[in-house]
Amino acid sequence: MNTTKKDIRALSLHELEAYFSSIGEKAFRARQVYEWLWNKNAHSLADMTNLSKSLREKLDEHFIINPAEIHVMQRSIDGTIKNAVKLHDGNVVESVMIPTSTRTTACVSSQVGCSLDCTFCATARLSRMRNLTPAEIVDQVVLIDKQSREYHEKPLSNIVFMGMGEPMLNYPSVTEAIRKITDEKGLGMSPRRITVSTSGIPKMITKLADENLKVRLALSLHSAIESKRNQLMPFSIKFPLSDVMESLQYWYLKTKSRITFEYIVWKGINDTDEDIQALVRFCKKVPSKVNLIQYNSIEEGGYNQASNQITERYIQLLEKNGITAKIRKSRGEDIDAACGQLANKH
Ligand code: SAH
Repeated sequence: MNTTKKDIRALSLHELEAYFSSIGEKAFRARQVYEWLWNKNAHSLADMTNLSKSLREKLDEHFIINPAEIHVMQRSIDGTIKNAVKLHDGNVVESVMIPTSTRTTACVSSQVGCSLDCTFCATARLSRMRNLTPAEIVDQVVLIDKQSREYHEKPLSNIVFMGMGEPMLNYPSVTEAIRKITDEKGLGMSPRRITVSTSGIPKMITKLADENLKVRLALSLHSAIESKRNQLMPFSIKFPLSDVMESLQYWYLKTKSRITFEYIVWKGINDTDEDIQALVRFCKKVPSKVNLIQYNSIEEGGYNQASNQITERYIQLLEKNGITAKIRKSRGEDIDAACGQLANKH
């Protein structure tokens, strides 16, 4: 790692323009470099062949590109790929490519580790080491797009911020990465195919609503009964469900985009009709749907997935109340790539 040179991908287009003007170059040079960085994903300044050799050499004196690289790749029998992605400082995050017959979804990380303490999640066992930069998030997306083309013969179609970390606690990088991914001068993907998943930090949900990024929002709910949710996700004691709901209603008002609730049904935890009724009441307060996600066991987790019968009962009662509910089968479990299993085992 070279510490004297600045990472050129930390500069905004505006800052690049200011730099080029300071060395007596035209502003369009900045746009050319921006396109190399964010559209063509150049990993070396030498690749920028529409710049003169002397300009490339000058850039090379001051700047560096620190690409994230695949350290270990694992393929599941169901086609899911998990990447351990190495960052320039040696930290590793995990991201997952999930192929179906119609689409490929990238599940990306937003932090190294996580500062939250969800009792059922493997990532929570790691402490939060640091936030990812926008470039490190974009690199995960680009790597998975390449894998999708190579192994699945399709470009990447969807992105979910459901890897390691809490995206709302790395808000500046996550929103900047989304801008780079959706920008026509960047990757040009549709924001409607991007889902930000949060454990529920009301102030940040409101802020994201105001951002007008046109992305989708998912909330990890797991229980609509406050005391139970606080036990499952202890940090949420600071954020009462009424405040979370208020921020979700604001989200819908501003974006007109329906919220997805992620919900795991555990045996002996949230498997009664009282739990279902609480969820129904919660869902009725805002346009929403429910994804019942399969629990992926983690070491010393102490939790067990409820029976199919109970899950069916959830679906039945939710649908009876006009709320769409689907079961989300987990993928890549054999390689610990499923939700909540990302824990840097390497
Ligand atoms: N911090 C964000 C995003 C990362 S977690 C969030 O909480 O939404 C992505 C999803 O995986 C969340 O819905 C989370 O509750 C779920 N999850 C965590 N551990 C899990 C496990 N062991 N099995 C299944 N899903 C899990």
